[in-house]
This record gives sequence, C-alpha cells and structure tokens, in this order.
Amino acid sequence: MNIRIPENVMTALMLLEQNGYSAYAVGGCVRDSLLGKAPYDWDICTSAAPGQTMECFADYRVIPTGVKHGTITVIVEKPLEITTFRIDGDYLDNRRPSEVSFTHNVADDLCRRDFTVNAMALDKNGNLTDLYGGRDDLEKKLIRCVGNANKRFDEDALRIMRALRFAATLGFEIESETAQAIHEKKQLLCNIAAERIQKEFTKLLKADCKKILTEFADVIKVFLPDADISAYNAKLIDSAPADPVLRLALLLTNLNPDKGEDALRSLRFDNRTVRDVSLMLGAKELVISAERPQIKRLINRYGIHNLKTVLDFLLYSQKISSDLHGTVLNTADDITQKGECCTLSALAVNGSDISALGIFKQNQIGKILFDLLEKVMDGEAENRKKDLINLAKKLNY
Ligand code: ATP
Ligand code: MG
Repeated sequence: MNIRIPENVMTALMLLEQNGYSAYAVGGCVRDSLLGKAPYDWDICTSAAPGQTMECFADYRVIPTGVKHGTITVIVEKPLEITTFRIDGDYLDNRRPSEVSFTHNVADDLCRRDFTVNAMALDKNGNLTDLYGGRDDLEKKLIRCVGNANKRFDEDALRIMRALRFAATLGFEIESETAQAIHEKKQLLCNIAAERIQKEFTKLLKADCKKILTEFADVIKVFLPDADISAYNAKLIDSAPADPVLRLALLLTNLNPDKGEDALRSLRFDNRTVRDVSLMLGAKELVISAERPQIKRLINRYGIHNLKTVLDFLLYSQKISSDLHGTVLNTADDITQKGECCTLSALAVNGSDISALGIFKQNQIGKILFDLLEKVMDGEAENRKKDLINLAKKLNY
C-alpha cells in the first residue's frame, strides 16, 4: 500500500510522536486513500490529551474547537482536527454518549467508530491499524457496522442514515446483518434532529441512490412518509441529474405544493429548496406548448430562471419530451435576449397612462393593461406607447 500523507499531516503526526504520543490519520481520509480517492480532509487521532496536544502545537495557531470531546484544531498550513483517543460512555437517547473519556489506546478509539471502512488508522510510516476488517470490506465494497449492528444503531441512530449515505456515495452494498438492523431500528430515526437527517439525506440524493432508495424505502418513509419510491419513480430519480432539489421534487411528486412544503419544512430544508420544490410540484399539470406566445406567458408566470427549474422537473418526470424541453428553453432564451415584452413592467404603458385617458374606471385599469400585454405577447400589437394607447381607446368594457 502506498498512501501519500500530505506534508502538513506528516508534520503534525511527527510532532506528536516526538513528544512521546502516538498519532494516526484516521477515518474517512484512510478510507478514501485506500480507495485511491483524494480525501476531503485529514483527521488525526492521538494519545495526547487535549491540553498536551495544545502544548505540542504551541508554535502554531490552535483553536480549541471541541475540547470537551477531545478535539483541537491546529493550523499547520491548513486547519487539521486532532482528537484524543476516546471511549464513548453510555448512550442515553440514541444520539450522543452521556460522557466521553480519553484513553491511550488506539484500539479503544477505533471500536467506537461507525463502520469498518471508517475504523482504520494510519501511522506516519504508512502502517495500517485495521482491527475490524475494514480493508477487506473496502475490497468487498461493504458497509458493515463495527461490532453488533443493532447495538450500534441503538447508541446512535444517525448511523442508519450514514450507512445509507456511504453505501450510495461509495457505490457499496450494506452487509446483510447491518442491513437487517437498519430495517429493524429505523424508527429510532424519530429521535434524531431533523437537520442531521436532512444533511445525510441530501448527500445521499446527490449520489447514485436508486438502489439504496429502493432497498431502504421503508427507512426513507420514516422521515418522508409521502415519498414515492415505486420502481418507476426511483428510476426517474436516478436518471435525473444529481441535483437534490430536483430529486426531492421527483420524490414528492404525488404531493401538492403545500403538502410538499410541509414535508420539507419538517426536515428543516432551507427556504430556497422548499420554494423550488413547491414551484415544481405546482407545475405538474402544466400543458407546455412550443408556440412563442405561450412561452412568453410562461416567462411571465415564472421568470426565466424559475421557468428552467420547472421545465427540468417536467422533463425528468417524463411529462415533456427532451425535444420540447430544448425548444422551449431555446425560444425562452431568444425571447429574453431580444428583450421581447413578457411582463407588465416591460409594457410601454402603465396604469397612469391608461388612467390619464379618463375613459376607464379605476378598477378596470389592471385588466386593460393585462389585455394589452397579451396582445403584445401574441404579436398583435407593437410594444409602443402610441400604439398601445390607441389600442386601449378601442377596448370596450
Ligand atoms: P466524509 O467526511 O467524507 O463524509 P468521514 O468518514 O470523514 O466521511 P465524518 O462525518 O467526517 O465522516 O467523520 C469522521 C470519522 O468519525 C468517521 O470516519 C468515523 O470513523 C467517525 N464517525 C463520525 N460519525 C460517527 C458516528 N455517528 N458514529 C461513530 N463514528 C462516527
Ligand atoms: Mg470527514
């Protein structure tokens, strides 16, 4: 095995060792390196207690990010998280240990980690500590709990979501005992903060998720009871781009916009996501035509940006063909580029102009303006003030 440990990580490992402590790169960075992928970041674990780590890095900038849990951030070129070997105390609420205690033994630290592929440590010489067959499982492409799966999900039910997420992002299977425990323990997700479920679920949706969604549909339904995870819909989701917003709309395709919003708010999705999904769900029944005036009406209703969102949804839910999708988008872009009038604000007359004619009641003005806009969009009138005023005079109410 030939893992290249970045220089700044090497510096930190050596410094800790020179001071008499053991130190390893651990978790995701080891997993990803063994898979031949560039790790997102490098985490370090050590026998040094937090105060001792701070002393070792006295010449560096040190941020005591989570001293209580043993984590110090040191800036060695870049921020590095260094965590003291830890034993988790009893878990009281399926979420967090009641207390943590520090240990000098890397084995104790590895056994509290979630999955075998995440429970490997690498020292500065490239020696791997792999007590649970993580390397084997990487080769077999398996997500497997460290220890008894039922117990591990009882301790922290977020691991259920992490298992699904890692399986999807890595393209792994979930080992059968772990999978069985996930099905058995899924209700424990009700004890987990919605934001945390949402974060993992979003990562899952960005990945190749069809297989996991289908196999663990019962788990997804614990936090999204109205999700449509039929074989047909899972296929649609899979063939859509890996955009979680679009995929959420496809997943919630059976809901009206209000119910869709409720479902997403309950998972604490951000306003933008809620708004876009709601927009898409509201467009389910839309009849799309390739006629220029109709496309102008769509721009009027949605604005060009939202129109693209809506059209993508209709395309990937197979409500419109890709030909029609392409034609409408091209025409919409052309209309926008040419500055053709699609909105009341772009109309060459406004309410005061019409009012000044003195022939309409105040409550008719809005309708007059909209009629004029329609004539312009239909190409029956030029968007010129003089023409529109003349036209207005001829309107008979
Ligand atoms: P990535 O950052 O690429 O998503 P990662 O493996 O680094 O993957 P993190 O969430 O950053 O994941 O966690 C770092 C490590 O901490 C994990 O590899 C795992 O060993 C451990 N870990 C994280 N969360 C848990 C948990 N809920 N239960 C047990 N161990 C965990
Ligand atoms: Mg990480």
